[in-house]
Amino acid sequence: MVGSDLDALLRVAVELFYRSDCVKAHLAEVQALPAPEYQELASAVTKALDDVEKPAIEAIKAIGEVGEKAIGPGLFDALARFSHWFAVAHELLVYLPAPNVLTETRGIIEEAFASDYDGLAPAIILGSLFNAFQFDFYQKLGRVLPDFRKISPPAGKRPVLQLPVCDRRCPAAWAVLGHEMGHAIDDNKEISHLVLPEAVPGIDRKNAAFEILSCWAREFCADLLAAEVCGPTAIMALLSLEYCVFPLRPVHRWSNTHPATKWRLEVVSVHLEKKYGADFLKPIRQAYDRAWQYSVDRTCPDEEKRRHFEHQEKLMVEKFVCPLADSITSSLPKSENGHQINDDSLTRCLRRLKGDTPIGAQGLPRRTLRARIEDYRSKTFSAAGERVMAFHDLATHFREDPLPAPALLFSSAKHRETIFDEAANRLIVDGDAGIKWLLHNMARADELSVRSIGSAMVQQCCRNDKRSF
Ligand SMILES: [Zn+2]
Repeated sequence: MVGSDLDALLRVAVELFYRSDCVKAHLAEVQALPAPEYQELASAVTKALDDVEKPAIEAIKAIGEVGEKAIGPGLFDALARFSHWFAVAHELLVYLPAPNVLTETRGIIEEAFASDYDGLAPAIILGSLFNAFQFDFYQKLGRVLPDFRKISPPAGKRPVLQLPVCDRRCPAAWAVLGHEMGHAIDDNKEISHLVLPEAVPGIDRKNAAFEILSCWAREFCADLLAAEVCGPTAIMALLSLEYCVFPLRPVHRWSNTHPATKWRLEVVSVHLEKKYGADFLKPIRQAYDRAWQYSVDRTCPDEEKRRHFEHQEKLMVEKFVCPLADSITSSLPKSENGHQINDDSLTRCLRRLKGDTPIGAQGLPRRTLRARIEDYRSKTFSAAGERVMAFHDLATHFREDPLPAPALLFSSAKHRETIFDEAANRLIVDGDAGIKWLLHNMARADELSVRSIGSAMVQQCCRNDKRSF
């Protein structure tokens, strides 16, 4: 059993080794292109990542050999260097040919957001900055080229959602686009803008605090819209991004543009627990709390300063976070997909993913089908026609329906969590072999999830008779 500081750092390590491997897979594709001018650049970035991984592996091995007392600053420092190099290496991808998003990425966001997606028609792109973004393309052009407004289309809106290149083949990470799509919807419907005066009455618009709170309201609104439509996966994808840069900044703090991640996780958890009647994010919060506590202890070693921070945090939550979250929640439009998490369906999906089987479609549980067969067998029929009718009725129960987008995303994210948890334990015991196990299993898991989403899309298109796919 490992301690909580070590748990937090191992989670960071697992996320970084996985993301670093995703970048290397992209670089290998670039090196295979018939374009020699890119080969040396791609090879240099691969070497840099290989090199920065070594001290992190050594630090983990040392803990495995000596025990938890060996944590010291060694592992944190090695991870901080890894995190910094990884973020820089990712930015260097800007000099290499840019890939496009997979059809499955667009398809799953389109299915989840339905008419909002159709209305906003966002462009989904991949970017070299290791983060996800949303911006309006025409607004951006209008800012840098003011005369462009004269020639821009009359509607003049084109949201762009950006995913980091390394997450191109990682379906559990795509849910972060749900948050970005939430920003695009909020910009269009002005939900956060309208609720702010009601949530924080009496605040002067010229006050700097008003600007900060309007940024926070935008973030809570995007988180809640994403949760309503995509379920728990959007906030999980956001945490996954944050773990990769965890050693580079005090993640427990709030900023002028973003509320503390812990508050965002809390706000989404409360909303989803009410929606589902079950707390699916509990293990995710417990893991994040360990990272949050590590961040607080590391940056506020002084007991008095820590108490002051905790007191200040409590006040912020009571005075601003709760009222903002309550007002936004009550103004949220209901999701068209009416998504609910079905525990039984989720368990079956996870079992299938573990057994390397795709989850694009799902029918009734096996035990229900067996009962239907027994029921059919036990019946007596007076005419042959009756038997045929009953058989046709029985056959309809064997129909499989494409799995809805939120269920596909959440199953994929839960499967990833299981692999990450086991990988964290294996890293300590097996070192390099643990990393190989992680990368092998995640490559399989991602491929399986992409395939599942693709097959669900094909099946859905056949049902809708959409020939355009
Ligand atoms: Zn945001």
